[in-house]
Amino acid sequence: MNLILMGLPGAGKGTQAEKINEKYNIPHISTGDMFRLAIKEGTDLGKKAKEYMDRGELVPDEVTNGIVKERLSKDDCKKGFLLDGFPRTIAQAAALQSLLQDINQSIDYVIHVDVPEEKLVERLTGRRICPTCGTTYHVVYNPPKEDGICDKDGSSLIQRDDDKPATVKKRLSVNIEQTKPLLDFYDEKGYLVTVNGDQDIDQVFQDIQTKIEK
Ligand SMILES: [Zn+2]
Repeated sequence: MNLILMGLPGAGKGTQAEKINEKYNIPHISTGDMFRLAIKEGTDLGKKAKEYMDRGELVPDEVTNGIVKERLSKDDCKKGFLLDGFPRTIAQAAALQSLLQDINQSIDYVIHVDVPEEKLVERLTGRRICPTCGTTYHVVYNPPKEDGICDKDGSSLIQRDDDKPATVKKRLSVNIEQTKPLLDFYDEKGYLVTVNGDQDIDQVFQDIQTKIEK
């Protein structure tokens, strides 16, 4: 089964990716992992990507697409794959269609883990970190025993700048703008399945299974 997983930051994509990987025994391929592997293996494309990254520049699409093709052509993808973080643009989505065709493959489903924006803000701004031991908490989902205090060492918990409401909302709106055209693109092609991500983790996974095993 060839799958693409989509969802905004905080939607719980990582957790669902793990579950899909376990249940269907298909590799979970994130963009970061793909780049790291290509660079480690020292492929021509890996070397090119590294040059751009070392200069702090964005890796151009033709290099990224090539790395995706190399990765999806590997043996462990014969039974399927779960792409996460790619494609990010319509141009990359179109390139993916054609590179899959080249290796006689196609997409089965694009799974969209959908969580209302205000819930995402709640999830993402609730994170607190202990500056001493690095333990993370969440004011709603994983609170410390005593408000604002680390269970392990009694330090006062802090909120990282990245987790403050204004930053979180900005990051989400940038992501929504980027994601919307892709969701439309896959919806038009009939690949898109949307699951409600605003429920218990196991229920979300149950819904994913129901939709992709139809
Ligand atoms: Zn601590």
